[in-house]
Amino acid sequence: MSNHLFDAIRLALRPAAVFILGADGRSWTYGDMLAQSGRFASTLEMLGVRPGDRVAVQVEKSPEALMLYLACIRVGAIYLPLNTAYTLAELDYFIGDAEPRLVVCTPGARAGMEGIAASHGAHVETLDEAGGGSLAELARDEAADFLDAERGPDDLAAILYTSGTTGRSKGAMLTHDNLLSNAVTLRDHWRFSANDRLIHALPIFHTHGLFVASNVVLLSGASMYFLPKFDADEALRLMKTATVMMGVPTFYVRLTQHEGLTREAAAHMRLFISGSAPLLAETHRKFEAMTGHAILERYGMTETNMNTSNPYDGDRIAGTVGFPLPGVSIRVTDPETGVPVADGETGMIEVKGPNVFKGYWRMPEKTAAEFRADGFFITGDLGKIDERGYVHIVGRGKDLVISGGYNIYPKEVETEIDQMPGVIETAVIGVAHPDFGEGVTAVVVRKPGAAIDERVILDGLKDRLARYKQPKRVIFVDELPRNTMGKVQKNVLRDTYADLYA
Ligand code: ATP
Ligand code: MG
Repeated sequence: MSNHLFDAIRLALRPAAVFILGADGRSWTYGDMLAQSGRFASTLEMLGVRPGDRVAVQVEKSPEALMLYLACIRVGAIYLPLNTAYTLAELDYFIGDAEPRLVVCTPGARAGMEGIAASHGAHVETLDEAGGGSLAELARDEAADFLDAERGPDDLAAILYTSGTTGRSKGAMLTHDNLLSNAVTLRDHWRFSANDRLIHALPIFHTHGLFVASNVVLLSGASMYFLPKFDADEALRLMKTATVMMGVPTFYVRLTQHEGLTREAAAHMRLFISGSAPLLAETHRKFEAMTGHAILERYGMTETNMNTSNPYDGDRIAGTVGFPLPGVSIRVTDPETGVPVADGETGMIEVKGPNVFKGYWRMPEKTAAEFRADGFFITGDLGKIDERGYVHIVGRGKDLVISGGYNIYPKEVETEIDQMPGVIETAVIGVAHPDFGEGVTAVVVRKPGAAIDERVILDGLKDRLARYKQPKRVIFVDELPRNTMGKVQKNVLRDTYADLYA
């Protein structure tokens, strides 16, 4: 029998090689991974999970949780990880929507989860961050040998919910080949080998930590430090024996604020990768000045896996997300008409390739609306491709501000304000305005003690930006609202300041 994704993982591994080094000192070889995922797979089968069934998982990050993902792949189930921050009300929506056969949650959440699961016909087991819980107990008595279920390239491997940055999260249906093809491409592009050791401090309910990080490690036979969360001190300590780190921009911001970040501290590392949200050009430059490493920024989304990457060899340009990955086609179109824009112009980024998902789970209309007739997926991100072929993300279509009939790309305004002395970062949003439709509004985080106010910022922009792009108001806040992946929640800001011009 063949199992498209897991067969490739088997081929890449050496049983005696180290796979995971846990934060608590425990470690797992690839042989341990095979045995534990086999035991979990046997357990899932014993609990009635069959190929095509969904298994919803809301647990703390742990090596066992990753083995459970692999067990789902091996039994041919559809793995459905859920953000650990979701509340019971949100879980009720996700579980009702996905109709899993089995729900795995933390022991503490069991009571609440039982009620939800029962009303949607699902069975509940538990797993805790130390590898205990009812599922682990059942697995102890099950066989480590498991005959992987037959799964082809087009069979679903996972339903992954988007981060919900622009609205309610959507379930993206990802196939075995979506995951495998992208992981192989990234492994080769980023030159991963069995000699690599990754610092893994990302959550594993999201595409970044689950697929980009974990699948690339698995398909290289590499090892990883598997940390429950990011901590700059810990990351710096591990850099002495690690080779790669993958992070969201906040990780890099925190590292550059740490005096321990030096050339020497990063000397053993060969690569730093960033994604999931825009990395400020300033962070890129500061990191390079402190360590000599140019952070490699890449761009992807839940629906498409990774689409572009800065080059391994060659210029990693701050503020860009690099070139389309091998096998991925990218075009920029007029959002209204879908007609490709002229070279260098800004428009909607569309993607096609083996990485692009099958559609949104149980949302056929939404799926149809997001694909062009020729198979390109409409990402919702605005961007442009420069003369050297580098892709620039300008922001999300939903964040575009239309003021007085003019389109304003928030990033352009944010970049100008970010360059001013005393400014840490900025989010520009559109707020309903009686005269202009939307008023350009800047929400700014100042450096502690900085003598900068609304007047200084507005004056500073006068000669830099056309009048219609200049903010009507500048608001100062201590920090921008962010979700778990470090993404700025502009919808929260829009709600907060909805009445600003009323
Ligand atoms: P939702 O679709 O539910 O609103 P989301 O789009 O934030 O949430 P994800 O799939 O986690 O959910 O994130 C993908 C998005 O993250 C991309 O569409 C893009 O806007 C942003 N993104 C990812 N990498 C980068 C990057 N390097 N630079 C800028 N934006 C990025
Ligand atoms: Mg999205």
